[in-house]
Amino acid sequence: MDRRAFLGRGIGTMGALPLAGVAGAATPFVPLAGVEPVRASVDRIFRTTVCLRPFRPAGPRIEVEEVGRKRVVHNYGHGGSGWSLSWGSAQIAVAMAMADGVHDVAVIGAGALGLTAALTAQRAGASVTIYAKEQFPLVRSARATGSWTPDSRIAMEKAADPGFGDRWESMARASFQHYQGLLGLPGSPVEWTDRYVLADAPWEGRRPEHAPVGPPRPDTFLRLEQRLRDITPRSVELPSGTHPFRAAYARRSSSLTFNVADLMHQLTNDFLIAGGRIVPMEFHEPGDVTKLKQRSIIHCTGYGARALWRDESIVPVRGQIAWLIPQPGLTFGVYYDGLSMLARRDGIVVQDVGTDEWFGYGDANEEPDRAAAEASVQKLATFWA
Ligand SMILES: Cc1cc2nc3c(=O)[nH]c(=O)nc-3n(C[C@H](O)[C@H](O)[C@H](O)COP(=O)(O)OP(=O)(O)OC[C@H]3O[C@@H](n4cnc5c(N)ncnc54)[C@H](O)[C@@H]3O)c2cc1C
Repeated sequence: MDRRAFLGRGIGTMGALPLAGVAGAATPFVPLAGVEPVRASVDRIFRTTVCLRPFRPAGPRIEVEEVGRKRVVHNYGHGGSGWSLSWGSAQIAVAMAMADGVHDVAVIGAGALGLTAALTAQRAGASVTIYAKEQFPLVRSARATGSWTPDSRIAMEKAADPGFGDRWESMARASFQHYQGLLGLPGSPVEWTDRYVLADAPWEGRRPEHAPVGPPRPDTFLRLEQRLRDITPRSVELPSGTHPFRAAYARRSSSLTFNVADLMHQLTNDFLIAGGRIVPMEFHEPGDVTKLKQRSIIHCTGYGARALWRDESIVPVRGQIAWLIPQPGLTFGVYYDGLSMLARRDGIVVQDVGTDEWFGYGDANEEPDRAAAEASVQKLATFWA
């Protein structure tokens, strides 16, 4: 999740300079309800995970392909927005899969896209079996930040077709509405929590992202956030002396948080209770789908589609998370200068997200980097006065 995605819609940006309190005199600690300092010390890291965003410059692939006598509906390539767009994407894919009265549906994949497609098909009256190599907690979706980020690395400006924005908007609105139905449940699979963005330079209104480091970029990530202005909460500036952070300037917004462990359990349980079946199975080539008994198959293998379907348009965008032991009652996020923290109920996720969206682009290395994880936690410790 980049800085823009972190705080939310229509909020502009603030200049990011070294934290004032680090270089200058000590800033007094001003408590703010619910925003206790995180216990950011490396001994509290309980795991470090890496996930690859399945990014396609043209946007997610949601379309029908005939393989032998099977109808395969692709539903993969959702970049950094898979959780956020999942329900809306499922609606499109399920309508394709169940066209012509088909009621026996296979879903390949048990990540965010597979589970939501399977549930959506069930609710439309289908009998559904999920086939997947891995299930929670081994799927990549389990290693996401867990925030409402519907346009995070979702497509490139030049590569997306002219109708993409409208399709994206209807997916995002459908998902947003669907997630409202998961609020207030035991275990809090989904909840609203606050986000703080810090800076030491005064608020400067809208301005471009930081210049990307490295070679010139061939394209620009598509930004669609403004299309959801009417449904997304606005941010407010917190006057200095009213927040506990070292930075002189802070803004607060609110966003949906996905407590992914609970969310995946909830989705899996709902699917099984409604009579769904999950069968462990690995597919090695597209032709393998012809062995399934179902005629209609929704293909949700995420980054796995690159190898399985030989889809080299999928670009890995690496993201690493250092997980700190959760602190009871702590449910908020903070972003400063390329570092983000989101306190969830299943872990406090700390991430070096970089200052532009190209961070991690093209990097398929899934090995955790312990030194980088420790550095991110040490940087987080400097956020509080
Ligand atoms: C660091 C990071 C942070 C993120 N944060 C957010 C966020 O805050 N909000 C958000 O909306 N999105 C976020 N994302 C993006 C989101 O995680 C992905 O878009 C999403 O997880 C993709 O889900 P998926 O179901 O397509 O793929 P996966 O979760 O990878 O699931 C794929 C499924 O297919 C199965 N599979 C794969 N290959 C085969 C095969 N050959 N045979 C059989 N089964 C196979 C797998 O076992 C698995 O069950 C983040 C991503 C990263 C990397």
